[in-house]
Amino acid sequence: MTEPTTVAIGIGSNMGDRQAYCEEAVRLISNFSKTSLLAVSSLYETAPLEMIDQDGFINCVAAVRTALSPRELLRACQEVEQSLGRKRSVRFGPRTIDLDILFYGDQIIHETDLTIPHSRAHERRFVLEPLAEIAPMLEHPVLRKTALQILQGMRNHQEVRRLAPFPVNPKAGG
Ligand code: ADP
Ligand code: MG
Repeated sequence: MTEPTTVAIGIGSNMGDRQAYCEEAVRLISNFSKTSLLAVSSLYETAPLEMIDQDGFINCVAAVRTALSPRELLRACQEVEQSLGRKRSVRFGPRTIDLDILFYGDQIIHETDLTIPHSRAHERRFVLEPLAEIAPMLEHPVLRKTALQILQGMRNHQEVRRLAPFPVNPKAGG
């Protein structure tokens, strides 16, 4: 039995109707069993990082409270990726949706297919900007700095533009 834990999930899309994919991902996350949605950041747009020949990303971060274990949560996120038709052909290439477990409470997990906190969360402005919007005081359990402190200390000035508040108005509880 897993104690309810507060979790941050990073959501990104750079293919097709990117905003609609992000919104649908949030809706599906809010329907996870044993899970309630706490907050969703605004949507942010970023120029692509690893390959330039594709659309920019739209990203947001959702905070949930869940009694799913880290592994159950990973599986649920992968089911969302599959149901939204993510193609896994090219690493770093276009994808309809990408869900990353950024933080799972203050747990530190290093397994072959699951690393928490997400191994690159602290170096990605498109993760830290939305995260700092909804959880500025969330502490990275390895770096021992808050989301806001990490963001303010970043030297990567990749441009991340805040688009709009998230359209969904999450209900409390659930
Ligand atoms: P990225 O998100 O780094 O661009 P992918 O989404 O293609 O790359 O990587 C997916 C793989 O990452 C999955 O096989 C999954 O097992 C693994 N993985 C490791 N840690 C995490 C995490 N915290 N959240 C989501 N996937 C993770
Ligand atoms: Mg991923």
